[in-house]
Amino acid sequence: MPEDYDVIIVGSGAGGGTLAHRLAPSGKRVLILERGDWLPREIENWSAQAVFADNRYVSTDTWYDRDGKPFQPQIHYFVGGATKFYGAALYRLRELDFRELKHHGGISPAWPIGYDEMEPYYTQAEQLYQVHGNRGEDPSEPPASAPYPFPPVSHEPRMQQLYDDLDRGSLPNVAFVDGVEDEDDDHPTADLQLGEARVKAVYEHAITSPQWQRLAIFWTYDEAGAFADHVAPPRGCLPLPARSPFTELGPRIPFVAISAWARRNYASHVPHDHTAMTRFIEAIFDLPALTARDANSDGLLDLFDFSCGRELSGPPPPEVGSGGCARLGTPPG
Ligand SMILES: Cc1cc2nc3c(=O)[nH]c(=O)nc-3n(C[C@H](O)[C@H](O)[C@H](O)COP(=O)(O)OP(=O)(O)OC[C@H]3O[C@@H](n4cnc5c(N)ncnc54)[C@H](O)[C@@H]3O)c2cc1C
Repeated sequence: MPEDYDVIIVGSGAGGGTLAHRLAPSGKRVLILERGDWLPREIENWSAQAVFADNRYVSTDTWYDRDGKPFQPQIHYFVGGATKFYGAALYRLRELDFRELKHHGGISPAWPIGYDEMEPYYTQAEQLYQVHGNRGEDPSEPPASAPYPFPPVSHEPRMQQLYDDLDRGSLPNVAFVDGVEDEDDDHPTADLQLGEARVKAVYEHAITSPQWQRLAIFWTYDEAGAFADHVAPPRGCLPLPARSPFTELGPRIPFVAISAWARRNYASHVPHDHTAMTRFIEAIFDLPALTARDANSDGLLDLFDFSCGRELSGPPPPEVGSGGCARLGTPPG
């Protein structure tokens, strides 16, 4: 083993490994120093619970900040480093990320280079790492000089099934659709714009579906997003007498009915709660109520207009937001 090297790389993750890959054909003598051992191959490698929640592979290190306060650095010491675990979302930083950003905890200073200078290297990295995707589908994506080298992988299986069912007209009588948590479900830390893009995609499949003319989509939320409501929540009736007196309705949340039969340009002023959707399903399929709450709901029927001679096509959806709203939403200095 030689004792002299032209380049010594510390760490074999994405950073060190990519550098070594680039330098290897140069003829230079390159040494990679790696502190960790080989990652044991075991079923937990694929378990989100083990990797993310239980921190099974995170080192037991304690590091100290400049004030001497201890913290856990979330370091992975293995051949391949943290990169052995990464979720394989190889995204580009946005143009905004290179500029000065104000966060709650202080100012992240601007980089000395901009996105434009990095762009050719992102393109090379996407080739090297064989990234799959379609340009333009992610509304927050910055400009790129080349398409992704590989076509997109299929959707997450349950979303793919939804799109396939809509396209074929084989959607079941009732389908619950939920965004992927923390990715496109509108809930912080997910980006609202990706949530919008998901809803737009569902809508676009719906209006071209053979089932469109007998379809109703209820788009709503399960909580108010922690925004204050100046109207005190009303009370609902007791669901079941034998149960605890759970009658408080929550703060108001958005609710939109999407259907060829939805009343146009109409804002309902009827107080509804989530059980109104249950009542709607019961009314459509002639089913008995589950509790007094849904039995006493009007079932959202004011949102529909079943008169004849209506234009039943679905209008094109508005464009979703772009540019990275999560970052633009930082508070003023
Ligand atoms: C579960 C998980 C999911 C993730 N998902 C994504 C994702 O989808 N998309 C994304 O962009 N990012 C993701 N990340 C983050 C991403 O994995 C890291 O940013 C990236 O792997 C960092 O690469 P790196 O080369 O800088 O560091 P690492 O891959 O951690 O490599 C550092 C290497 O240095 C070695 N080392 C450390 N100290 C020494 C020393 N003193 N001597 C010798 N060697 C040393 C370590 O053992 C390690 O091999 C994820 C991270 C985790 C943990």
